[in-house]
Amino acid sequence: MEKDISILAKIAYVDKILDEFEDELGDLPKAINSQEVVVSEKKDRITETEGILNDIKVFVSTAKSTLVALKEKEDKLSQQQFLVRNNKEFDAISTEIKSLKSEHEKLSVKMRTEGIKEGNLLSILDDQKKELEDAIERLAEVHRQYDELTEEQSEDVQNYNKIRKQLRTKINDTLYDRYAVIRARIPDAAVQVKRGSCQGCYRQIPSQLIVDMRNQLDRIFQCENCGRILIPDWVEFDEDDLLADKTED
Ligand SMILES: [Zn+2]
Repeated sequence: MEKDISILAKIAYVDKILDEFEDELGDLPKAINSQEVVVSEKKDRITETEGILNDIKVFVSTAKSTLVALKEKEDKLSQQQFLVRNNKEFDAISTEIKSLKSEHEKLSVKMRTEGIKEGNLLSILDDQKKELEDAIERLAEVHRQYDELTEEQSEDVQNYNKIRKQLRTKINDTLYDRYAVIRARIPDAAVQVKRGSCQGCYRQIPSQLIVDMRNQLDRIFQCENCGRILIPDWVEFDEDDLLADKTED
């Protein structure tokens, strides 16, 4: 029967490969996420600019009719001025006309200012739309990179996950749990012993321990320095056989 430590060696091997696949994706998932934020911010700024532009539009159209109304009132008063009976009435109408003219002037100035503001905002809006387009294009680009990589990987990842699942059913739970706990801290939780050293921390292993490892095949050893599970040098497996195993069922 296959020793637990041999099964663990295979699991550790598979995990290393799966970790490498994940490393290949690198910062892409994070890059997608932050680019999505960028796109959303650019959209918000456009909405904001469009809101201000809309306010200006409403103001201008109201102001236009107000200007017409003011002018009409003024004309009406000018005509009334011919019909006055005394100077007092004439002066009163003059004052009113003056105030209407000043209101008209003020509103015209405000309209011109708003017109300039509108022009500036339209050019800002143009820039913002271009920026949004670029941001969307960049997002599509990282998505493409991510999709390409995951597509390339997907078959292999599925295979290795399948192999791992089978190995998991074969291994003793206590050992597997110990491995999982260490792996939460250290990705390579089980390492080979090579030339008398732990391949995790490269510390020399006491020679008595090496002898014990060769004689006590069912005992699990951990590196006294780094705590990794040690895979004795007698454990060997063919990587191609491991891959071929999964086709059996
Ligand atoms: Zn070590």
